[in-house]
This record gives sequence, C-alpha cells and structure tokens, in this order.
Amino acid sequence: SSSETQYQTIVVTGASGLVGSALKEVIATEPVDSSYGRRTGERWVFLRSSDGDLRDLAQTEAIFEKYKPVAVIHLAALVGGLFNNMKHNLTFMRDNILINDNVLWSAYKHDTKKVISCLSTCVFPDKVEYPLTETKIHSGPPHSSNFGYSHAKRLVDVQNRAYKDEFGCNFTSAIPTNVFGPYDNFDLEDSHVIPGLIHKCYLAKKNGTPFVVSGTGKPLRQFIYSFDLAKLFIWMLREYDSVEPLILSVGEDEELSIKEVADAIVKEVGFTGEYKFDTTKSDGQFRKPASNDKLQSLIGGYKFKPFDEALQHTVKWFIDNYDFART
Ligand code: NDP
Repeated sequence: SSSETQYQTIVVTGASGLVGSALKEVIATEPVDSSYGRRTGERWVFLRSSDGDLRDLAQTEAIFEKYKPVAVIHLAALVGGLFNNMKHNLTFMRDNILINDNVLWSAYKHDTKKVISCLSTCVFPDKVEYPLTETKIHSGPPHSSNFGYSHAKRLVDVQNRAYKDEFGCNFTSAIPTNVFGPYDNFDLEDSHVIPGLIHKCYLAKKNGTPFVVSGTGKPLRQFIYSFDLAKLFIWMLREYDSVEPLILSVGEDEELSIKEVADAIVKEVGFTGEYKFDTTKSDGQFRKPASNDKLQSLIGGYKFKPFDEALQHTVKWFIDNYDFART
C-alpha cells in the first residue's frame, strides 16, 4: 500500500545473535524519536539466517528486493571461539567473505544509503604497538590462530573504501572489543571468556564441584556490554558518516583482569565452593588495549553501564533461560 512505501526500512542482519538481540531489545524499548529509539516513519527488520543465507547472492538480493532498506546494520557473520577458528580457518574466511561481499554488493545495487558492518579488535595485527587505534588494522599480519576470520573482516574495510571511491557509497565499519550479554553462546568448549566462565561456575555450583579457571587470571581485557554496543550502533547510524572504522569500546582505563571477571561471576552465581586457577593452561596475550578516544571525542562522553550491573543482568538471564540458551 502507499502508506507502506513511505516507511524508511532499516535492516539488521545477524539479529538473532548476541549483538543483534540487544539491538532488537533497545529498539523495542527505547521511546520513539529518543536518542536510541526508532524514529517516526521507520520500520526495523531483524533478520536471522533462516530468513536467507547471506553466503548466497540470490538469497541476499531477494532480501534487499523485498525490504528495500535505506540502511543496513550488518552483524551477520560466522563467529566462533578460539578452537573452532583454529580448526576451520578456510571456512571462517570463505563464509565471511561471501556474506560481506553479497551484503555490500546488494546494498550498492539496491541504492541502500548506508551500511555499518562489524569488525572486531581480534582482527588487528599480532605484533603491533598498543593501544590499538583505528589506523592500525592493516599494519601487520593477524594472529595465526584466526587468520581466516581476520582477513575476511579486514577486507570489509578495504571494500568500504573501494565502494566509496568507485560509487560514492556511505559504507563504514565498527570495531567492538569483547562483547558479552544475554543471548551469548555459553558453550563450555568454544565460547568467549565471560559466557564460558558463567556456564562453568553455574555447573560447579549445581554439581558441587570446584570452579576451575584456565590460566593465571592475570591477563587484562576490555569488555563491552551488548546493550551499550547496541546503543553505539544506533548512534553511528544517526551521526557517523565516515568510511573510517570506529572502535566501540570502554576506555583503556577500564581493563579488567580475568580474575576480577571470575570473582564477579562467583559472586553473581552465588558459588561458595572451591575456586582455583589452572596455571598449566596458557594465558594468551597479557593485554591488548584498544583506545576509545575517537569514539568519546565524537559522541561527547558516553556513559557505559557499570560492569558489575551488566554482569548481574547477564548471569540472571543465563540462569532464567538455561534451557533455551546456546550451550
Ligand atoms: P553471533 O554468533 O551471536 O550471531 C551471529 C549472527 O549471524 C546470527 O544472527 C546468525 O544467524 C547470523 N548468521 C551467521 N551466518 C549467517 C548466514 N550464512 N546467513 C545469514 N545470517 C547468518 O554473533 P555476535 O552477535 O557475537 O556478533 C555479531 C557481530 O559482531 C559479528 O559480525 C562479529 O564478528 C562481531 N563481533 C563480535 C564480538 C563478540 O565478542 N561476540 C566481538 C567483536 C565483533 P542464526 O543464529 O539465525 O543462524
């Protein structure tokens, strides 16, 4: 109908995942026309892989033909933990190259005005001067464990620049640090550190067994809550029109040690049994801080949700949704 065609459609790919689920909840709950809300006249469409396999060009084109999005927040990706990445570098590279190429090409062909894709700080060079900043993505080879994923993600930045040069497209990318929150993958073998530890601690409590954290607990990391990240994506959609990637992270002064994270999990889960560190397991890199100076200078001082509150919410979600969570 004619009223339908007046809608401006925003499509979110990969919306059933950790980040996309938070984005969906923010759009559903923030007041219309508020800073992080839907705008009057906007229709948001949240897609999952069953709506179309983005590795396939015809299925991707059909999505753009159907929704004619004015903007796309492109989160869909083949994402995995360390072990999965190490075993499947070719698959991680190929699937992500196909997904990204199909989305950007379809967006260009269907006159989508803006695409924000998603990189990750784990695609940065292995040997690099810290802190990580937006200009250092390509300045050396990525870590060998996930080189497939890393090269595919880095290529998005190259593609964005080429689309701008040749066709004048407004395509850009965000670079989040470690994300956590409800709807994460809580698999014990192949998840990121926070969901993996939450699940382990939950089982230790349930089974009356020790809670064993791999490594010394000393490495430092920056963690961003999925709901903060969702709001920053919405801010980028409204305000950020540069091809240059933008790091979305808490500040360098907000690094947490794995021990601090594990302590907070023990407290939230209410675990009172034996709790120890298995120092025979490797620690990985001691720290790999990323600067959020560019973000904070542009947005004018974003207030992140305090870690303890965000963790409390995540643990509660995991326990309440144990049967349905990805474990
Ligand atoms: P998830 O693994 O939680 O979700 C991935 C999403 O991509 C799902 O919605 C999935 O759909 C969809 N998807 C996967 N393959 C396809 C496909 N072939 N066709 C269509 N859709 C597909 O990922 P996150 O939410 O954690 O990550 C979102 C983005 O953020 C990714 O681009 C990731 O690289 C990036 N990122 C994540 C970080 C993290 O710590 N988690 C850190 C930095 C960046 P379905 O579930 O329906 O199959």
